[in-house]
Amino acid sequence: MIEEKLSLTDLANHFWSVQAAAYIREKDVEITSLDGYGDVIGEAESWIDSTLDRGLVSPNRTRPDRTILVYPTARMFISILGNEYILRRFANAVSKYAAVVLEHEDDSKIALLATTPGNLGDKGWQLDYHKARAAGGLVVGNRKFEWRLFFTDYVSAAQNFHDAKWKLVNQPLREGWVYLQKPDVARLMEEAIRTRISRSGLKSARDIPSVKDLPRNLREAAERISKKVKKRISEFQSYDAEQAGAGESAYPGCIKQILDKLSKGIGVSHNERLALVFFLSNLGKDVEEILQAFSKSPDFDAERSRYYVEHAMGLRGGGTKYKPFGCPKLKTFGICNPIDNWCKNGKIFQRTIRGPLDFYRARSWVLARKKEEEKQPG
Ligand code: SF4
Repeated sequence: MIEEKLSLTDLANHFWSVQAAAYIREKDVEITSLDGYGDVIGEAESWIDSTLDRGLVSPNRTRPDRTILVYPTARMFISILGNEYILRRFANAVSKYAAVVLEHEDDSKIALLATTPGNLGDKGWQLDYHKARAAGGLVVGNRKFEWRLFFTDYVSAAQNFHDAKWKLVNQPLREGWVYLQKPDVARLMEEAIRTRISRSGLKSARDIPSVKDLPRNLREAAERISKKVKKRISEFQSYDAEQAGAGESAYPGCIKQILDKLSKGIGVSHNERLALVFFLSNLGKDVEEILQAFSKSPDFDAERSRYYVEHAMGLRGGGTKYKPFGCPKLKTFGICNPIDNWCKNGKIFQRTIRGPLDFYRARSWVLARKKEEEKQPG
């Protein structure tokens, strides 16, 4: 067992930790009556602002006694607002910040945080650097690995990573231990912190009052944040996804599945064809682009398909341009394929998904923002 004490500055640096929460409990600070804590409320509000605008939080590191209170205050606002979209963005922002701090942290403190139950999961991680280092670490090529994490914790933390580099088979593994370098440990901890905060849900903060029951300073801050969130949601609703051309990565599972079948030369049903044509034509695709999607179908007949697509697009017959099928109809046809959390929950940012276009518009907006954020320094 590693004996290590965390100072107040450490606790403020790792404000997401159970150690920081225990400190606040010990001091008996009641977050819902933060009278005289205007700076804490202001900073919590600005964390949420920058979470929404840039996907980052930038704690003030000069006042650890106040900073340590900002995290639970921001978390309380998010719970009061009851918006999972902010919770997920906040979880991303906090975990990114945590990783930067961890990468420069003392080894013994990293080990303490990682092995403490509740910080990265219900149980503490089996993470070790003492023994690994005492044995000279593990050298592979010109790389030296001085940390080791038991493979079960590794697999659980890395399960959402898509890069092949993180696959267990590509890691140095000895007797159940995955050998790592410090930046990798920080990256894995980042992911575990993100998951823990996202999964903690909106109801986990204790004794959440309604906005009207809050003291005036907290109520006004909650109302300001709520306005900003509403503005953000209306931004994505009016977002011109078609013009931005986010492409197939923003399609929902139902449409992806039809395209996938077509690309593999698997036949699709009449309703699947209609669902795809209505969706693509409402995205602004032209006849040729839509025909291209059908061209690998085993029974593709160019002339018949063109007639059929033009008809569905209102270019023939009575000139009726059909709207895409909504989710209820697609579910009845057995076409719904809810591979994404939005579809599993039937909601995007608290609003019911009416159909694949809702999904496409919102996902395109999220992808575009992500790109913007990646371009921003820091
Ligand atoms: S929930 Fe709607 S958009 Fe999502 S996969 Fe099902 S039908 Fe498609």
